[in-house]
Amino acid sequence: MLRVGVTGGIGSGKSTVSRRLGELGAHVVDADAVAREVVEPGEPTLQGIRERFGEGVIRADGSLDRGSLAAIVFPDRDALDALDAITGPAIASRVAGQRAAAPRDGVSVYDMPLLVERGLWVHEHLTVVVEADVETRVRRLVEQRGLPEEDARHRVAAQATDAQRRAVADVVLDNSGTPDELERAVDALWAERLQPYAVNLAAGTRSRRSDLAADVIVAPRVDWEPRAERVVARVAAALAATGVVTEVSHIGSTSVPGLVAKDVIDVQVGVHHLADADRDDVRAAFADAGYVFNHGIHSDTPHPGGADPAEWLKRFLGGCDPDNHVHVHVREKGSAGWRFALLFRDWLRHEPAERDVYAAEKRRLLALHESTSDYVAAKEPWFEGAWQRATDWAERTGWQPR
Ligand code: ADP
Repeated sequence: MLRVGVTGGIGSGKSTVSRRLGELGAHVVDADAVAREVVEPGEPTLQGIRERFGEGVIRADGSLDRGSLAAIVFPDRDALDALDAITGPAIASRVAGQRAAAPRDGVSVYDMPLLVERGLWVHEHLTVVVEADVETRVRRLVEQRGLPEEDARHRVAAQATDAQRRAVADVVLDNSGTPDELERAVDALWAERLQPYAVNLAAGTRSRRSDLAADVIVAPRVDWEPRAERVVARVAAALAATGVVTEVSHIGSTSVPGLVAKDVIDVQVGVHHLADADRDDVRAAFADAGYVFNHGIHSDTPHPGGADPAEWLKRFLGGCDPDNHVHVHVREKGSAGWRFALLFRDWLRHEPAERDVYAAEKRRLLALHESTSDYVAAKEPWFEGAWQRATDWAERTGWQPR
């Protein structure tokens, strides 16, 4: 099941987007609604609040007196943390239960105002951020929801900024226009990305690019670094409980600023032992995060030629997102292949002349080869020389993998 977090500042149109996704067929869980449910009379959470904050926060009919509770917790950080500690686990478990009800090949939308503030976005396959400028949001809240202006501004100021949300957004929906424009953008997102992604996930299918090399090699893109940061954070979070990972790093051409590359985010997952990658819980964690093993690939080409192939073994996975091509290389920490991936990146980052030589070689080979697979194979002889130069550089500079 594809997990999609929808967030945005208050009044941005987050609920409007979630509602439309629900109409299109997504299963929607509304965090605010769950937060209200867990404090209804009879809920253990309400009892916990009564014990911590006293009878003053309970009305005569036994329901929560939100105004009194807010007056206690908003000015007092410790009290707010205590409230979070009481309600947080109950909300999390109820959200998880509701989301599990979505069909396996479906889309589960989590409408959550604090997705970014709470760091919960790492557990979603995609984060959709709805944006409208502050003045537009305040105007909508005042005119359409009847909030006093001061209240609206106060609430806006208490949340993450647009820049903080944008930093973790996979998709930004601009809601500065009309409701119709927003709806068209949501419909396109659904058809072009969410549905195909959900289908890939359920079927265990990696997303595919065109095999035409000329279509695939592109000028450096400014979104490579932030895309990679999100992939790294999500893969690390997905595998954290397995305890097998030593580090997750962005590697490959997209990790070198200014280098032309296939529009693919390569990520290396270091593991204590390569065999860990074959454990059931590790496989399940990768599958849940949207990465599928390619069992046809088990190693890299050893360098220098004739080196021990055992030092160059790996596992290779591809991501299911049709709009963000990701390759995951699982390598044993300390192996030659693991080390070279980090060295190659750092060498090219520090030696722009070598980076440009590599770019020129890519262009030369592009002119000679039509398919991506032929092009990739043709790069190997160049890599042998590059391995030597990078190794010399490492010796000269005292480079160590970090
Ligand atoms: P959020 O859930 O982010 O707080 P809502 O989806 O509830 O925001 O939207 C806030 C208010 O603005 C609602 O009354 C909604 O109907 C209205 N609204 C949403 N998008 C637009 C738009 N593009 N133009 C005008 N009003 C809008």
